[in-house]
Amino acid sequence: IMDTVLLESILDISRKRDVDALDLSLVSTLVKFVPLLSISLYKRPDRSNADFIEETIKLSSPTDGTDDYRIVADRDMIPLDKHLEACLKTESAFTHRTESGSVRLLVPISKDHKTAGVLALEGEENMLEHQPLVEIFAELYGNYWTILDESERDKLTGLLNRRTYDKKLNKLLQAQKINQEKQKTSDNPQWRQRKTGPTAWLAVLDIDNFKTINDNYGHLFGDEVILMLSQKMKASFRRSDLLFRFGGDEFVIVLEPIPAEMARLTLERFRQTVTDHRFPQIGNIAISIGYAKITENDFPQTILNQADKALYYAKEKGKDRMFSYQELIDSGVYQEEKKAGATELF
Ligand code: GH3
Ligand code: MG
Repeated sequence: IMDTVLLESILDISRKRDVDALDLSLVSTLVKFVPLLSISLYKRPDRSNADFIEETIKLSSPTDGTDDYRIVADRDMIPLDKHLEACLKTESAFTHRTESGSVRLLVPISKDHKTAGVLALEGEENMLEHQPLVEIFAELYGNYWTILDESERDKLTGLLNRRTYDKKLNKLLQAQKINQEKQKTSDNPQWRQRKTGPTAWLAVLDIDNFKTINDNYGHLFGDEVILMLSQKMKASFRRSDLLFRFGGDEFVIVLEPIPAEMARLTLERFRQTVTDHRFPQIGNIAISIGYAKITENDFPQTILNQADKALYYAKEKGKDRMFSYQELIDSGVYQEEKKAGATELF
C-alpha cells in the first residue's frame, strides 16, 4: 500500500505543466512521507546578486494541532548562508545541526546538469532515515524542472518563449486583481483613497533593420546581436519582470506595477543602453519600442495589440524611438478601441 501511495505522488508530480505547481507538489509530497519541522526549496536566481538565493517555497509544520503545513515563504530573496553555499559548491547532500538543536538536511538539485537549487529539510534526528527517498525526489524534481524549463524558454537566449505569454500574463493579471482587492478592503486609509495603484506595463521591442545586419554580416553576427540584447535585458530589468523573446528580432517585456513616468524612464534608459553598445564589426544598432498599460480587465492579446500599434508607429516615424499607446490615443493618432461587448462577441 505504501508503494501505491508513493507512486501516486510521483504521478502527481509528473502531471504538472507549470513550475510553480511542480514546486508545491514536491514539498507537499515530501511532508507526507518524512516527519519534518519545515521544508524549503531554494533556487539560484538566473540574474541578480550571487550572494542571494530565492527561497521559492517553504512549508512549516502545523502548530495548531491540525495536519496542515503552512506556506511561509513565497519567492523571497534571502542571503546565502554558509551551509547552502557549501551544498551548492560541493554539489552533494550533507547535514548539519541548527542552533535550536534540530537537524537540517541539504540536498542539491540540478537542472540541465548544473546545480540550480537546494532542497532543505529540518527535523529531528530520525528524519535522516528518509534521506535516500529525499534524494530520489530531488532528482525526479530536477528532471521535470529541466523539461518544463526547456519548454518555456527560447533556446538561443534563455528568455521565456511566446507560447508561455498567455499563461504568464494571466497569472500576473490574477495577482494584480487580488492585490487591488486587498487595497480596496484595506484598513489603511491611504490605500483605500488611492483609487488605482500603479499598473504593470507591457513593452514590445524590435531591432531596427535587423535583416540588413543578417544580410551584410551573416546570420552568426545576427545571433550575436540577439544574444547581446537578451543579456542587456536580463541585466537591466528586475527579477520580477517577465522577459520574452517572441521570435526573430522581437522581444516583449512585462514590467511589474510602477508609475507611468518610471515605466517610460526605465524603458528609455534601456533603449539608450542598447544604442550605446558598440559591436566591433557591426558598430551600433538601434531598437524601437511600443508599450501599453496592463489593465487587469484586458485580455493578454488586447494589451499586446496596443503595444504593437505603438511599435508600428515608432517604425513608421523613422525607427530608433519609443511610443506609448496612451500618448497615441491622447494625441488622436489612434482612436480608443471599443471594449469588446456582448454584441461584438456574438
Ligand atoms: P524593421 O527595422 O522594420 O524591424 O526591419 P527588420 O529588418 O529588423 O525586420 P524584418 O522583420 O524584415 O527582419 C527580421 C529578420 O530577422 C528576418 C530573419 O531572417 C531574421 N531572423 C529571425 N530569426 C533570427 C535568428 O534567430 N537569428 C538571426 N540571425 N536572424 C533571425
Ligand atoms: Mg526588426
